[in-house]
Amino acid sequence: MIPLLRRKGIFVLIYFLFVSCGKVINDVETNFSPVTVDMESMRWGMEDFPLNIKVSENLNARSQALIGSSLDEWESAVNIDFFQVLETTPVLNFSKLSDYYYKDRLVHGIYLADNKVDELSTPTLAVTQIIFYTNRESADNPYYHIVHTDIVINGYDYSFSTNPFDNSSYYLLTLVLHEVGHVLGLGHQNQGIMYPSMSTQDKQESLNPFDINLISEKYDSIKPALKSAETIKSYVPAPGELKRVLLFLPAAPFLANKRLNIQRRVH
Ligand SMILES: [Zn+2]
Repeated sequence: MIPLLRRKGIFVLIYFLFVSCGKVINDVETNFSPVTVDMESMRWGMEDFPLNIKVSENLNARSQALIGSSLDEWESAVNIDFFQVLETTPVLNFSKLSDYYYKDRLVHGIYLADNKVDELSTPTLAVTQIIFYTNRESADNPYYHIVHTDIVINGYDYSFSTNPFDNSSYYLLTLVLHEVGHVLGLGHQNQGIMYPSMSTQDKQESLNPFDINLISEKYDSIKPALKSAETIKSYVPAPGELKRVLLFLPAAPFLANKRLNIQRRVH
């Protein structure tokens, strides 16, 4: 039989563990409610590149090729090796977006969700989830330092095509070009690839000068840091420092006059 005092001690220990664990989980979840921030201050650190991007296995070879070209487009715009060779990852079918971070945080994924995702319903075509913290260690101004991203495409409500001449579904290349812009920290714009909605007739296949200028403004000034990136100690933020932004892309009717700078690449 355990003496009363020791039993009390065990109860206190169990109670303490229960309450303190509960509190930690609660804190993380509270801080993880989606926030709205100025995307102009959102970016990766140069020491984070190249990023390991993986695509879900239910995206076929043609889709993966288009995703590969959209990654190349952003890289060649500023001549930075943002991404590593594309790899695949199993289809996860999570019903909550935050699970894409909690359960697979080392994979920056591009997922085609076949299942119903809580936060994705019509008219949302896709979402980019960004997990970040406020980096105050940088020599320049504090910035929102991205630590994780997921692109989740709403395959439950919509169909996507790799054929630019198919106007019955949404063109995957244009959609992924837009979402990868978010992965790199870009927000929405009233023109170009970061326009905040998409129709089945939107077929932007490459970045235009407006888009290139956006990504240059974000990364050109810190590009010299690439060379010294190895010397920057990588800071591991505590769970409570992390915040989450969700950027939704809704389906919308085609508005030719609003997409001022849209360009079609002529083959
Ligand atoms: Zn967007």
